[in-house]
This record gives sequence, C-alpha cells and structure tokens, in this order.
Amino acid sequence: MNISLKGKRALVTGANSGIGQGIALSLAEAGAKVAVNYIVHPEAAEAVKETIDKKSEAITIQADVSNPEQVKAMFKQLDDSWGGIDILVNNAGIDGKRMMSWEADLDAWRKVIEIDLIGAFSCASEALKRMTAQKSGVIINITSVHEVIAWSGYSAYTAAKAALGMLSKTLAQEAAPYGVRVLSLAPGAIQTPINQDVWSNPDTLKDLLEKIPLNRMGKAEEIGKMAVLLASDFASYLTGTSVFVDGAMTDYPDFSHGG
Ligand code: NAP
Repeated sequence: MNISLKGKRALVTGANSGIGQGIALSLAEAGAKVAVNYIVHPEAAEAVKETIDKKSEAITIQADVSNPEQVKAMFKQLDDSWGGIDILVNNAGIDGKRMMSWEADLDAWRKVIEIDLIGAFSCASEALKRMTAQKSGVIINITSVHEVIAWSGYSAYTAAKAALGMLSKTLAQEAAPYGVRVLSLAPGAIQTPINQDVWSNPDTLKDLLEKIPLNRMGKAEEIGKMAVLLASDFASYLTGTSVFVDGAMTDYPDFSHGG
C-alpha cells in the first residue's frame, strides 16, 4: 500500500529548515503541492522549492506567523495560487533563550508564546475557515515531548507546547462535524539547527542520548514520514490526539533501573 497525497494543497510553516523542511519534502514525495513558509533565509526556502519542483509543485511564502496580518496575507496568497488548502502543518517555532522564571525577560517569554502558540492558532483559524467550508482537511500541530516533559529554563516553550496540545484537541472537537481532523505531532530530540549546541558537543550529546531509549537522535525525515501518514486517509479515524515520535523519550528511561 502506498500513501498518496496527490493533488492535496499543503502549507508548512517554517519549512526552510530542520523538521519543517523534512515535512515539506516528505509531503511532496507523496504527491502534495507544498507552500514553503519562511521568515528569514529566502535562499533556503528557494532551495526547498527547487527540490520539491522536481517531484511536485511548490511556492514560497514569506510571513511571520506571529503577525496576524501577515498570516492573512499568506492564506490569501494560497487562495490566489491554488484556490485553498487541504493540509496545514504548524511547524514554525522557537525554544527561546534559557532563563529561569525568576530572572525571565517578559518580552522574550512572550515572543515564544506569540510564535509557537498564537502563531499556530492564527494559521489554524485561517485554515479552518476554508476547511470547514469545503468539509475536508487536516491540521497537524508540531508540539514536542515538552507537551508533557518539564524543562527547566524553558517555561515559555513548555507552556506553549502543552497549550498547543490542548488547542489541537479543542479544534479537533470543533472541526470534527465538518470532516476536518486536527492532530498534534510531538517530536523527541530531532537533529536540526534548533539544538545544534547540544548535538555538536560530545558531553551534552551523551547526556541527551541517555534520555532516549532508542539511543539516537531522530531525523527530520522521520517526522516528515509520520506527517504524511497523519495527513493521509490511512489516519482517517485519528483526530484530537497527540502522536509522540520520540524514540521512547516519554517512556522515562531513568526508570529502566531502580525506581
Ligand atoms: P529550526 O531548524 O530552527 O526551524 C525553525 C523554523 O521555524 C525555521 O524555518 C524558522 O524560519 C521558522 N520560524 C521561526 N520563527 C518564525 C516565525 N515567526 N514565522 C515563521 N517561521 C518562523 O528548528 P526545528 O528543530 O526544525 O523546529 C521546528 C519545530 O519543531 C518547532 O516548532 C520546534 O519547537 C519543534 N520541535 C523540534 C524538536 C527538535 O528536537 N528539533 C523537538 C520537538 C519539537 P527561519 O529559518 O526563516 O527563521
């Protein structure tokens, strides 16, 4: 059985790097047309488009997801180019700078929430206007194992990802009567630029690998393949839940001994 997304119109936010790029390429591999959203680095977005154009069709759209006007303009561009949207992947995100809550810079804290949570909501809201009207569509919100695992120094990130997980469930409930599915895809440690400081240092990499039963970091394409599955009819009865793709990080390997 092959998964085909032929003819589907997808938007992946933050698709010029890391996991978003992996998802965009995987969706295109399955036949979807992909809009590659980015905020800076247009040359990276253009490179993703060029790769996709060899298999399917792509456009690039610059928009800051934390800016509602830019989000509206991005969806207008999608309407003008392809007449709408079938698959939205809310991937754009930052983890912000590490700061304990008692020394937090509120503007920096708010920025994480504005991109990771409100940005995802703005895009979902625009997508759902179209999907509920056409009575079909899938939204995949990229959360994180930090939907459920606390992380000292990153309270904005963990709060945003946990909230995004519940947002997915609520939007799924709202959208279900219209045949629209909403899911969270929660990656574990995936090797991308966001965590380069961790995987490029042998000591911090060793510490990280001890937290992952499969004993390796994941690859962006492993998240991409899961996004293809979730977006397809193979997952037609799956909505309102989070799918963890994390090498069993949420299995808490410290409990493999003692206890
Ligand atoms: P990444 O390589 O740093 O990619 C982040 C992407 O988000 C970039 O394309 C960036 O665009 C885009 N972006 C940032 N702010 C934006 C904004 N305001 N508007 C539009 N796009 C924006 O990181 P990644 O690891 O692939 O992370 C992607 C997603 O996966 C994030 O939501 C992250 O929280 C989540 N995640 C990652 C991991 C992991 O281990 N890597 C684990 C769990 C969850 P520019 O390059 O143009 O700035």
